[in-house]
Amino acid sequence: MDDKWTKITHCLLEKNHIRIPIQKRFFLYFVEDDETNIQKEKIIDVITSSGFLKDDPRLSVFRQRLKTLVKSKQINYEEFSYCIDNHISILKKIFQKDIIIPDFKGFCEKIKDIYEQTKIKEGGSVADYIPQLKQQDPTKYGISICTIDGQRFNIGDTKYKYSIQSCCKTINYGIALEEHNPEYVHTFVGREPSGQSFNEITLNKEGKPHNPLINAGAIMTTSLIQKEKTHSERYDHIMNVWKDLSGGIGEVGFNNSVFLSEKNTADRNFAIAYFMKETNSTKTIGFPENTNLHQTLDLYFQCCSIELNTETMAIVAGTLANGGINPLTGKRIFQEETVKQMLSMMLMCGMYDYSGEFAFKIGIPAKSGVAGAIMLVIPNVMGIVTFSPRLDEIGNSYKGIEFCKLLGQTFNFHIFDSFQSETKINPLVSRYQNNTINKQTELYEACKHNDLEYVKILFQRGVDFNVTDYDKRTPLHVAVCETHIELVKYLLQVVKVNKHIQDRWGHTPKDEANNNQKLLELFQ
Ligand code: GLU
Repeated sequence: MDDKWTKITHCLLEKNHIRIPIQKRFFLYFVEDDETNIQKEKIIDVITSSGFLKDDPRLSVFRQRLKTLVKSKQINYEEFSYCIDNHISILKKIFQKDIIIPDFKGFCEKIKDIYEQTKIKEGGSVADYIPQLKQQDPTKYGISICTIDGQRFNIGDTKYKYSIQSCCKTINYGIALEEHNPEYVHTFVGREPSGQSFNEITLNKEGKPHNPLINAGAIMTTSLIQKEKTHSERYDHIMNVWKDLSGGIGEVGFNNSVFLSEKNTADRNFAIAYFMKETNSTKTIGFPENTNLHQTLDLYFQCCSIELNTETMAIVAGTLANGGINPLTGKRIFQEETVKQMLSMMLMCGMYDYSGEFAFKIGIPAKSGVAGAIMLVIPNVMGIVTFSPRLDEIGNSYKGIEFCKLLGQTFNFHIFDSFQSETKINPLVSRYQNNTINKQTELYEACKHNDLEYVKILFQRGVDFNVTDYDKRTPLHVAVCETHIELVKYLLQVVKVNKHIQDRWGHTPKDEANNNQKLLELFQ
């Protein structure tokens, strides 16, 4: 950090409000202080190498404006200012490197190395319990990453589609938890590793499946999802959760032939389901009342047959890493508590009979599926998905496991790794220092610059919207003063901020409306 930058940061933090016209100074700093000669390419380069890809919905308007409205390579500050309008919060984060992996380019180089080293390793064989899986191209290998800030990286066959198989178990568990409370869900399913194979016909001493990530438990949690609704409504509900989790990037599809052959070769899953049904008569536990067994099994097979690629699934994993909020859309899909429970289960039972070993050696919550995917969630950091169809003897992707081993040796991503490690790289920034003050400063800025999308994210994050600055002004004062109608509406109607707070001149936010009728109506 040089002097110039330190001064700018100090202005921001010391005064802690937005009256300082930092926006211009801030960006000019990064575009080398010449307001008539801003290099378009340079800006795009910083954004892309930081991991904010072309299809990132948060920057689509910005990119569009930059591309279509400004033809020349160099632009002046007025043009630039027009382009960044409504995007200031995210762009500031990018330029300021206030992102979870600040040196994203360097980080990706290391991932690329690991990818290259594991690509040449040969071992395992493609699952063949149904012909449709056997037909997968065994040479495919792809890695995708999505951080909690939505920084993304893809290498290899990341557009190749595969069926998610057992990876659906985690999400179905999450959906059941959201719909019911955890106590209710765990009336029907335990939360201990089973110590037995994932498709074993076995229940715990209480007659429950051991956990939601083995077949018995997954069939059980599937039975709990919207059980009063029709089969098609339940299927749509689950698909919509997947679509929300992936933020509309790529396609969440369905592989009907995988479903049909899964269903036709499902003797063991039928046996498990009937075994659990039988406990209804002998014990108090079993399926919930009025469960339609065949429909539940079909729904479970359909979930296993959901199809996507690693690019899309990495966003799902990134959403879980981000406590249930999609990093690209800002939408909350799961409550933090739900995600915590899902990840705990993944850490204990997500990798078949290798779960204990994986937790010990790699220490990252993960879920594996027989098609060859491994979904890793590094809490508060990133989601990573590996795909390669050849499986080891336990049923995990051979290359995927090799990748995880090297990843664990390179970075301090094991949940019990020390941040002070001398032997492993810590690619994170300690962004949560001064977290509260940063978030409040961001809120004022977002309100000044009409960045409604970011205001929504801050609201989801639980930031206090009734804060006051040095002049006792609230974010609402600022939004009204700047005549941002939609934003004011959001603050009043959704956030329900306190509209009566007076600044140090005795003015309420309404007093700032300056006879603007649209604003005044919002205060009725
Ligand atoms: N559809 C598979 C089954 O229920 C899931 C296998 C898996 O990915 O573990 O047997």
